Amino acid sequence: MNIIVCAKQVVDVAEIKVDSSTKKPILAGVPQKISDMDKNALEEAIKIKEKHSGKITVITVGNPDAKERIKELLAMGADEGVLITPPDHADYHVIAHLLVGAIRKIGTYDIILCGEASIDMFSGQMGPRIAGLLNIPQITYAQTATVEHKNVISEKNLGEKTVTIESPFPVLITMTKESNQPRLPSLMAILASSSKPIHEWPVSSVITEPLIPKVKTIDIKGIPMQRKNIIYQDDLDQSVGKLVDELAKVGVLR
Ligand SMILES: Cc1cc2nc3c(=O)[nH]c(=O)nc-3n(C[C@H](O)[C@H](O)[C@H](O)COP(=O)(O)OP(=O)(O)OC[C@H]3O[C@@H](n4cnc5c(N)ncnc54)[C@H](O)[C@@H]3O)c2cc1C
Repeated sequence: MNIIVCAKQVVDVAEIKVDSSTKKPILAGVPQKISDMDKNALEEAIKIKEKHSGKITVITVGNPDAKERIKELLAMGADEGVLITPPDHADYHVIAHLLVGAIRKIGTYDIILCGEASIDMFSGQMGPRIAGLLNIPQITYAQTATVEHKNVISEKNLGEKTVTIESPFPVLITMTKESNQPRLPSLMAILASSSKPIHEWPVSSVITEPLIPKVKTIDIKGIPMQRKNIIYQDDLDQSVGKLVDELAKVGVLR
């Protein structure tokens, strides 16, 4: 199996603070990480490789510091990394074409795995765009990706029903957060990963025609959290009971 995993470096959204006067997110100093669902995609790739053998290549379109994040993915179990630094003003169209250019340059692939969406921009566009540009089948929001002889079978959990979908290779699959528990690399794996290659490919090596962005993000504002500030002052049992009732009322508990 030749497996490609698309993994995006994102700001750790849990660490973002919002400027109370301008409502703008304060991004300076916020740590970067690999988007959560992309680790689910890599975990699924590793499980497939463990069963069927093969090679896992991770592609990131991101700034040069994303190389450090790619190293974490190599420690998890990817074999090679590819980093492409996009031009300024890179919209969805530009990023999708760069990822597809890199996939075409790699050439051989059976499965392309993406996250269902990134945790920062959360458009969920990249997987479907890549499959469309490559003209290959796609399965979105997959909970599983089981490789059979000539096909891959994925289950999608739609709440009240489960849908099972089969596709031939090559196929693009977007994985959900619930699909698996990404592994933490061992110390040995971290040490061994230092010899794995990370290729930094210039834009011109994957795309020849000019890439013109089509949409522009014109504003990002934080939404202040509304707290209810309810304080229960009865004895412990009564307070817990009231808390449970309140959580059920707002739909957190069933
Ligand atoms: C370096 C950089 C500069 C940017 N500059 C601009 C800008 O100037 N203007 C603007 O409007 N937007 C900009 N963006 C945002 C960009 O348009 C979107 O982040 C990108 O198109 C992906 O959309 P998304 O985050 O909603 O991903 P989704 O479509 O929600 O992601 C789904 C999945 O696609 C894959 N994926 C997504 N993005 C990447 C990636 N970069 N590398 C590898 N895999 C990926 C992952 O598997 C991910 O889980 C920039 C992004 C980057 C990384």
